[in-house]
Amino acid sequence: MNHDDLRDWSKRAADWAHAYHAGLRARPVRPDIAPGTLAARLPAAPPEGPEPMEAIWSDFLDLVPEGLTHWQHPRFFAYFPANAAPASMLAEQLVNAIAAQAMLWQTAPIATEMEEVMVAWMAQALGLEQRRGVIHDSATTATLSAVLTMRERALGWAGLEDGLSGGPRVRIYASDQVHSSVDKAVRVAGIGQSNLVRIPTDAGGAMQAQALAAAIAADRAAGALPAGVVVCAGGTGVGAFDRVGEIVDLARAEGLMSHVDAAWAGSAMICPEFRPLWAGAERADSVVMNPHKWLGAQFDCSIQFLADPGPQIRTLGLRPSYLETPGQDEITNFNEWTVPLGRRFRALKLWFLLRAEGLEGLRARLRNHVAWAEAAAQDLARLPGVEIVTPPSLSLFSFALASEAATEALLTRINADGRIYLTQTRHRGRYVIRVQVGPYATTAEDVAMIARVVEELL
Ligand SMILES: *Cc1c(COP(=O)(O)O)cnc(C)c1O
Repeated sequence: MNHDDLRDWSKRAADWAHAYHAGLRARPVRPDIAPGTLAARLPAAPPEGPEPMEAIWSDFLDLVPEGLTHWQHPRFFAYFPANAAPASMLAEQLVNAIAAQAMLWQTAPIATEMEEVMVAWMAQALGLEQRRGVIHDSATTATLSAVLTMRERALGWAGLEDGLSGGPRVRIYASDQVHSSVDKAVRVAGIGQSNLVRIPTDAGGAMQAQALAAAIAADRAAGALPAGVVVCAGGTGVGAFDRVGEIVDLARAEGLMSHVDAAWAGSAMICPEFRPLWAGAERADSVVMNPHKWLGAQFDCSIQFLADPGPQIRTLGLRPSYLETPGQDEITNFNEWTVPLGRRFRALKLWFLLRAEGLEGLRARLRNHVAWAEAAAQDLARLPGVEIVTPPSLSLFSFALASEAATEALLTRINADGRIYLTQTRHRGRYVIRVQVGPYATTAEDVAMIARVVEELL
């Protein structure tokens, strides 16, 4: 294949993409296939010679659309969304064509400078005012970067040289509602799962500040080294929020770093009326939110805002001679802000998205989702035997039937039916079905189908 062929095939791909999206509503959200059946349809060995593109294309049509869980389906109410607005998809096509590697300013000047400006735009859009930051691949990487920085700042940057053996036990604090990426971060950072201190939450799911203060004091008395607090702003299970400002201020008073995980809920903060939910985030050392979830910037696009990038760059930045930019010591080289060296040009899809929709367009969509989630919860609450276990937190709520077995069986029937897709979680030990209203293309009618499907399958 050469670039002339690529142009022709790209047009076919664009036509296919258009038809695929237009036809999504008619498909089940999740395919009805058993694990292993798809791999069995692929040859066991790679081809020795080139194959014609027509053959590859026809196999694509046979195998791929039927083998997908359709994340852009308007009735994908499972997990959290991974929305790809058309404008962001167009930007990704261009990024794909440019194929730049944006590790240094010099290797991709416009990618670096646009990333700086898009982070500043988003900080304003979210009410964080003036913030610098970096676009990671995922919130997992952002949280790992923050936890590594917490560790090193607490150790006076000794861990980078000496490792952790023989040093004090580094302690990180978070509620029982935070995402498993926090567990992964303490594991990968060498801090260890047992040094992630779980602070109990109150009935509303918010971390108990007094328990946090007590845990920090007890650790200090025991000779451990408190390093940082991960603050929950929209937990993955049922959308729990800590009282962000209270926890951030407590962390600061204790000399600890704070990192707010708003991977999902952060998108909603473009709407001023939702900002009381994370009031105080503007005082945190680090905040992560994923435009690749609800906002509509195609995966991957996770922004970490930093009050002061210095400590993170000191933790993660390396400048071997082959990565130096002669005469430009003060330049922004984003690889020094994150774990991987290589980086994609992620800012372009935000630029396209924010301009093509405008903040008002984006706000209108999110406001609809929140209102429709409220309506769906009310419709479900009217069904016999259905209990709303956690009320809507923005656009996420959960429900259950009286027994776990009945709830699980209902979820199995719902997903076998295929018109909507829901997933489960455990809330305070209870098996519940999660509903999140967030697909980019969803309508009030799509959301109303949730209660209708549940009613039919009860
Ligand atoms: C989705 C999610 C994450 C993980 O996001 P990735 O970008 O997939 O790593 C972390 N925290 C919360 C609260 C989330 O909802």
